[in-house]
Amino acid sequence: MRYTSFVCLLVLSFASNAYVLGPTSPGKWGNPVMGTGATISYSFQNAGSCDSGACQGLSSFMPVGFQTEVEKAFDAWSAVANLTFLEVADDGADWNAATNSGDIRITGHAFDGSGGVLAHGFFPPNNGNTAAGDIHFDVDENWKLNFGGLGFSIFQVMTHELGHALGLGHSLVPGSLMNPFYTEAFEGVQADDIAGMQSIYGPSVAAVPIPAAIWMFASGLLGLVGMRKKIANTAIA
Ligand code: ZN
Repeated sequence: MRYTSFVCLLVLSFASNAYVLGPTSPGKWGNPVMGTGATISYSFQNAGSCDSGACQGLSSFMPVGFQTEVEKAFDAWSAVANLTFLEVADDGADWNAATNSGDIRITGHAFDGSGGVLAHGFFPPNNGNTAAGDIHFDVDENWKLNFGGLGFSIFQVMTHELGHALGLGHSLVPGSLMNPFYTEAFEGVQADDIAGMQSIYGPSVAAVPIPAAIWMFASGLLGLVGMRKKIANTAIA
């Protein structure tokens, strides 16, 4: 099973490569055509076995408020790329077993003690059975809600791992979130990360509600409506 990890090390890097796509093909959720959006479900897994030992739900080793940090990570990506996330219930099935749980299942297990690998995320289909997209945190780390002090930001690590779960590999661009080294020098997705995710799913689409009366009036003018929407999308890109 292919996955990458988020390693707790600080290094100076002067490489300037652009973002890197993950190794799976098509390497995205939804329509396999690159640049098209997707709707993806997720769930919090609190039972079953993981790829290494028993899964432990996040509430068992993270501070109260972790769920908000995880949800912020989903929002960070959907704000810049054409992604929609829906939370669903998790049925507690073992990792990579048949399940009705979310596409992305979030849980924890013991990795390598404190330090070292903080978490890992599995790339999108095709990547095993149901393991694709799953995100696992190391239960032995000091997880925290904010920057500063000891420990690791749940939001920062979750957003990085979600980048993998959605199709991005590691970037060597300094100051990118998809760089494999934990940092608090910036928070959340950066320019290189955004460019990478938009190459997979396209830019976020602004939800511009059109009044019902206009929809009815436009029934014979679909071409015009389509053009209007296209212009709106382009402005946001
Ligand atoms: Zn990583």
